[in-house]
Amino acid sequence: MSVADNIGKIEERIANACIRSGRKREDITFMAVTKFQELGAIKEAWNAGLRCFGESRVQEAAAKFDGFRDEHPGTELHFIGSLQRNKVKSAVSMFDCIQSVDRESLALELIKHSEERGSPSGSPLPILLEFRTGEDSKSGFIGLDELFRVTELILGCSSLEVRGLMTMAPFTDDEAALRAAFRRLVKVRGELEQRFPGKENWACLSMGMSGDFEIAVEEGSTLLRIGGAVFGG
Ligand SMILES: *Cc1c(COP(=O)(O)O)cnc(C)c1O
Repeated sequence: MSVADNIGKIEERIANACIRSGRKREDITFMAVTKFQELGAIKEAWNAGLRCFGESRVQEAAAKFDGFRDEHPGTELHFIGSLQRNKVKSAVSMFDCIQSVDRESLALELIKHSEERGSPSGSPLPILLEFRTGEDSKSGFIGLDELFRVTELILGCSSLEVRGLMTMAPFTDDEAALRAAFRRLVKVRGELEQRFPGKENWACLSMGMSGDFEIAVEEGSTLLRIGGAVFGG
């Protein structure tokens, strides 16, 4: 199966999940997670129509995407991994969105470096707050208190823009557990929306991977991060 075939199959499954749940396909972004993938495979995904890509390491992303982006304008590159303090400076100059803001110290570092960044457009850097919904994931906010505190910090910073939440569901094929995790994220989004009104701040729900993206669509995901099912693995 080629990458294009895989993407076609996934699109079909997304479309069916949309029908089942009364959702619109255009409200959902299908991101290809390209960590460990070579440039050739990434180009195949681009040629099949994907424009949004996710990487989990800053150096790996730079090595692959610096040139790629010059040749493929319209590429959107998101950071989805665990971001170390000493990589924040390069990350804010490279990525179109940091999806994995998972602790206060990282938020502070992002505030500092995004203020220094001075993007050509001068527009703020979009970020998502990562919430922990699965016990085996090591990252993500656990409690609402810290999440509220960090949200307040970021909303007070004009060089960052909160767009919503991200989560990794538990590694299981227990459908009920997966649904519960996604619903938890929707609920947390509701709490944030109530406390910090502003529709555009909470529009994005990044949830759903190769093993659970249909359930994620049914539960309200707006951004699917799919690696293995795209590239085969
Ligand atoms: C690797 C990764 C994915 C993609 O996982 P697959 O199961 O390969 O689709 C999604 N999100 C994050 C944060 C990842 O690290």
